[in-house]
Amino acid sequence: MTQGTETAGKDRQVRHLIGGRAADSTGDETFETRNPHDNSVIGTVTRGTAADAERAITSARKAFDEGPWPKMTPRERRTVLHDVADAVDAHREELAQLETADSGKLLHQALHGEMPRVAQNLRFFADYAAMAGNEAYPDGATLSYTLYPPAGVVSAISPWNAPLMLATWKVAPALAFGNTVVLKPAPQTPLTATRFGELATAAGLPDGVLNIVHGFGGDEVAGPLTGDPRVDRITFTGSSATGARIMASAAAHLTPVSAEMGGKSANIVFDDADLDVAVPESIRAIFAGSGQMCFAGSRLFVQRGILPAFLERFTAEAERITVGDPKNQETAMGPLIEQRHLDKVHGYVELARSEGGTVLTGGSPLTTGGLERGFYYPPTIITGLANESRTAQEEIFGPVETVIPFDTEQEALHLANSSPYGLGGILFTTDLDRAHRMAAAWQAGTVWVNCFFERDLRLPFGGQGISGIGREGGQHSREFFTEPRAVMLRL
Ligand code: NAD
Repeated sequence: MTQGTETAGKDRQVRHLIGGRAADSTGDETFETRNPHDNSVIGTVTRGTAADAERAITSARKAFDEGPWPKMTPRERRTVLHDVADAVDAHREELAQLETADSGKLLHQALHGEMPRVAQNLRFFADYAAMAGNEAYPDGATLSYTLYPPAGVVSAISPWNAPLMLATWKVAPALAFGNTVVLKPAPQTPLTATRFGELATAAGLPDGVLNIVHGFGGDEVAGPLTGDPRVDRITFTGSSATGARIMASAAAHLTPVSAEMGGKSANIVFDDADLDVAVPESIRAIFAGSGQMCFAGSRLFVQRGILPAFLERFTAEAERITVGDPKNQETAMGPLIEQRHLDKVHGYVELARSEGGTVLTGGSPLTTGGLERGFYYPPTIITGLANESRTAQEEIFGPVETVIPFDTEQEALHLANSSPYGLGGILFTTDLDRAHRMAAAWQAGTVWVNCFFERDLRLPFGGQGISGIGREGGQHSREFFTEPRAVMLRL
């Protein structure tokens, strides 16, 4: 077991987890992970090489081919995964503090939202794998049924915006269905995954079943994770550009890829909507997580008749958002992840201005009041742009909302679907028929009606267009993380 995350600051050494043990990079290089609130160094991370990834794959391969994990019954694996979930609950405060320091996420969100979800990911898939039935078709003299053996070694590659929640969204089903895993967290946020690996090992996960390697994409540590023929599945969450590179790499060995990628979701408010619901939910849909959400409703379409009234309330509420230190209870919006990302977000606001947009509120980095060392950007609302503008078409991944009026339901649907992305859709209306009509015609993986970000882990999660390949969640995760086999018996 490693002790790598127990010290603080620069002295906190973050190492790989390979074969149940902490491991340093064969390249002997490190990189720093920093707190987005004040840019302080909070850990020194071993910088993975291709050789490290190959070692981790070898470990996962051995644990799959020779170890107990894939041979255990789903009920036996369920017991271990519940113990891991219990360990997450017991260390919830510590994990939440690490997540906030590493990602800038609000502490109360980490504590009350994401860490409980981490434990839920584990319990849900452990229970699902133990409880799910298999199809069987007795048909005269033939009995046909389906088996779901594990796929093998899974590469899991995750982003920084919900680090441990999204990592376990992959690791939990992969393990529950009997696979072994190599996880590569985003380099910006390596802390909670490392601590999770320690906790999982201590809770009884056999050595080599979960391996964690740190570092960067491309030819470094991530290369073999997507291009090694010993990997049987690749599950990725991140940007569409990276997803395309991963698919190209995976194509060499025809390795199946599940990819949850970027978004530019439409949020449509009809004139019959209850504004007491639509305004606060629309605020949450773009400004929660400082807009660093794949599902962010970053194209807001408002029916023309209510546009002035809606905008007045929406802007006033955006201006009331307290931006600041994510550890403070009263803070509603924390920093962006890093300087490079802040520059990107501000670059898009500058682009919006040059495209003819009007910035109603926000629009420049926050650099006073104790925020000067961090990466703070205010809630920003832009009007006067067409849906075809680059600002309204490209993923900004920050607290920047583009508001565009529409007249008819047909036009709203056309605007929503006029995007290369197809991740989510949000709709506010009191007309139930319209809600069903829109949901049926919306080209998106998820549609929320009069709410935002409600989740049911049994439902398919993913996107269409450049937002995703495949779906995960419930039976969809089972389809991906197993190798379904048809068996036919002549009786
Ligand atoms: P990213 O694509 O830059 O990185 C994601 C992960 O991929 C990181 O671990 C990174 O190191 C790794 N990576 C980078 N290049 C690689 C390569 N060539 N081969 C293998 N791995 C590589 O994304 P990000 O900036 O960390 O995350 C933000 C993006 O993630 C946004 O586009 C957002 O919409 C998306 N996202 C999607 C979902 C979803 O469920 N659809 C959820 C969260 C975030």
